[in-house]
Amino acid sequence: MTLTLPKKAASPVSLLVSGLAPSGIRRFFDLVSTMQDVISLGVGEPDFVTPWNIREAAIYSLEKGQTMYTSNSGLLSLRKAIAEELTRLWGLTYNPENEILITVGVSEALDLASRAVLDPGDEVLVPTPCYVAYQPCVLLAGGKPLPCLLREENEFKLKVPDLESCITPRTKALILGFPSNPTGAIMTRDELEEIALFARKHDLLVISDEIYARLVYEGKHTSFASLDGMKERTVLLAGFSKAYAMTGWRIGYAAGPADIISGMTRIHQYTMLCAPITGQMAALEALKGGDKAIKEMVFDYNRRRRVILKGLHKLGLICFEPKGAFYVFPSIKSTGLTSDEFAERLLMEEKVAVVPGTAFGPGGEGYIRCCYATSLADIEEALKRMGRFLDKLPNFRRKVC
Ligand code: PLP
Repeated sequence: MTLTLPKKAASPVSLLVSGLAPSGIRRFFDLVSTMQDVISLGVGEPDFVTPWNIREAAIYSLEKGQTMYTSNSGLLSLRKAIAEELTRLWGLTYNPENEILITVGVSEALDLASRAVLDPGDEVLVPTPCYVAYQPCVLLAGGKPLPCLLREENEFKLKVPDLESCITPRTKALILGFPSNPTGAIMTRDELEEIALFARKHDLLVISDEIYARLVYEGKHTSFASLDGMKERTVLLAGFSKAYAMTGWRIGYAAGPADIISGMTRIHQYTMLCAPITGQMAALEALKGGDKAIKEMVFDYNRRRRVILKGLHKLGLICFEPKGAFYVFPSIKSTGLTSDEFAERLLMEEKVAVVPGTAFGPGGEGYIRCCYATSLADIEEALKRMGRFLDKLPNFRRKVC
């Protein structure tokens, strides 16, 4: 008797993973890494080093020999400090014992939230252009992302009619990301109230990524969970990477209803065990004494925001005014190039790296993302090079802004 083995697939990689497009940002920056003298307005990372008091606290914790695992949920002292911070900033009350989970960055929190709440085939509304990980996380959790357009004429704010046109009876959740990467848009309390009514009407869960909440230059951030009746249906994600210039420490957190946090913790305990203790000690110090540093960094980012906006307008590119995060998202439709062509040619011809808007989903065609968390000198030089590049484009129609 012969045994017939199942035919081997051409690749050992699963169909789900094979179908996942590589991050448009990474693909582009692999190219950048092979080049010299490039000015990068690409990767969304603060150019500041983590403030000294935070680094010192981490060093001290190592000196004391704190090199072990923490509880799966993270240090209770850190969860308590986060709970206090959420009350101080947004008037939210969470129980640090069972409603807060410390994660390896917001990246892990996003993955856990998707996997904890989605069953195969569940749909999730994903307003786009949006952060590159939203749609892949939904897909990897077995869900189906429903891209929903954010429009420049609405200042890239989310509007209920656009959501209504995308929703179906299988839709279970909505991912919100304000202040936004890549557009820098923020939403006011009144505007979010409309979304809250929509969430209630359709009984949706909301995953609200508020990683840029502390980086707002005009207006005020409203935490979605603080809206009437929303805390019960919201998983709030936030972290330390952006506001405290702590990208490499890999600390984020989720706050939400105890059953969802418990589900997320169950996945986290098997896949991650816990977030790194040194990062958690650093995060604890950040919450104790980080406000002054945030204020100084926000002051600096705001200056750069104004310089880059003014510069882009002078070049004749239409650019919506971002109010938060550290990105501008100018339209390049007047150049006659696609986002990919624009970004690739700008890199090759003038050595300026920006990210094509298409990296952020279907709503990003016709735009490029420029991160201004870089020095003023680099921003000014990048603008000069961009001007030279635009001058060479025969079809470019300069807009008078
Ligand atoms: N969410 C948004 C909107 C981001 O822009 C980023 C990083 O760029 C992340 C989440 C991931 O952050 P973390 O470093 O906490 O994993």
